[in-house]
Amino acid sequence: MSKKNHPLRFNVGYIIHETPGYAKDISFEFPFYELDEDLTAKDFKGELLFTRTQKGILLEAHLWAVIPTECIRCLDATLSEVDSRFTELYAFDHRTETESGLIVPEDGYIDITDLAREYLLLDTPTTPLCKPDCAGLCPICGENLNHGQCDCEPEAIDPRLAKLKDLLDDE
Ligand SMILES: [Zn+2]
Ligand SMILES: [Zn+2]
Repeated sequence: MSKKNHPLRFNVGYIIHETPGYAKDISFEFPFYELDEDLTAKDFKGELLFTRTQKGILLEAHLWAVIPTECIRCLDATLSEVDSRFTELYAFDHRTETESGLIVPEDGYIDITDLAREYLLLDTPTTPLCKPDCAGLCPICGENLNHGQCDCEPEAIDPRLAKLKDLLDDE
């Protein structure tokens, strides 16, 4: 059973009948939002501006969300704050559609769920850290060094390298 999201669906049908330049802003906020089956954002907020233009309805969106990620050094679960802005045109018909191919739906309701997910994922850091000075994992035993020092001696020289060093020193 998947939990049902509040849909990111907005009635913009009436904007079609307004004169170009007419704008409507809408904001929303959810403590939790399921972006994908296995991806739930926290503190998901958005400010949307829908503007009637000659070609369609322009959406200017500013989204914020806290996305669960994994620290690239210690591999612990962590959270990344994501701030995403995008502009997309929902064209009135195919003659004015953009590369995104978005068209104002016939029922006048624009659903931004897919766009929101795509842009938030695009803007999620690819190299998140649990903290700026994360100590990472010990390369020898794999211990998470944020939780304490292990007994390995990272300074110890690999015996094979030591031999090589001796050879080089002899020359
Ligand atoms: Zn870390
Ligand atoms: Zn170690």
